[in-house]
Amino acid sequence: MGATLDALHRLQEVEMQIAELRKGIDRKVRAVKQQESRIAEIDAKIKQQRDSLRMGQMEADRLDLDVKTREAEIAKLRSALQLAKTNKEYSAILTQLNTFKADSSKVEDRVLALMGDLDKKRAEIDALGQQRQAEEARLAELQGAVKEVEARSKTRLDALIAERQEAAAAVPPSALEFFERVSRKNDGEAMARIIRTNPKRAEFACDGCNMSITIEQVNAILSRDEAITCNICGRILYIDPAVAPGIRK
Ligand SMILES: [Zn+2]
Repeated sequence: MGATLDALHRLQEVEMQIAELRKGIDRKVRAVKQQESRIAEIDAKIKQQRDSLRMGQMEADRLDLDVKTREAEIAKLRSALQLAKTNKEYSAILTQLNTFKADSSKVEDRVLALMGDLDKKRAEIDALGQQRQAEEARLAELQGAVKEVEARSKTRLDALIAERQEAAAAVPPSALEFFERVSRKNDGEAMARIIRTNPKRAEFACDGCNMSITIEQVNAILSRDEAITCNICGRILYIDPAVAPGIRK
């Protein structure tokens, strides 16, 4: 293999290492984002419960006022009962009084049920608050892990970036441009190794797509210093000369 292909191969190796390091950091950054959205979900639930609590409280206040109005009415009817002059009048007032009392007790029951609901909501809000605290602690841990992996990777990443620049500088601009185009098309894997598929016969395949590579292609890669691509997957091929003994170099 010629100098250009060697340099491209080195560039590829460095890029793979950079991608691997970045993947490790990205994984941890993603975990932080997931945790943040988990907390946002809890916040939304807390807000919903608080809104519902406020509405319930308003309804309870309204019903409370209703009960007080009814009590005043009942007190009035009781006084009227004392002043009734005839049996007919007395029994009419008594019927009205009993109806009022029955209605009032229904409203009181509703107030009691509502108060129970509101207590339940308050307990739910408390529980969500506690859950939020635990998730916040987890978030701090995950953020710490991002800082840690970033700090740990920095020296290595800086070295690899410098190494990539150096490797890229050794490649002619047109070959570099071609490499980058192939790399974008193949998720950062611009190159594919040629493997020997038969130890006895000179049969070769592209390690990127497993399709066979002709002897002529292998010869061209070994003898010329240019980017030769796999006909099937389009990756730039390279070969370890040791796997092709007896093939013209
Ligand atoms: Zn291929």
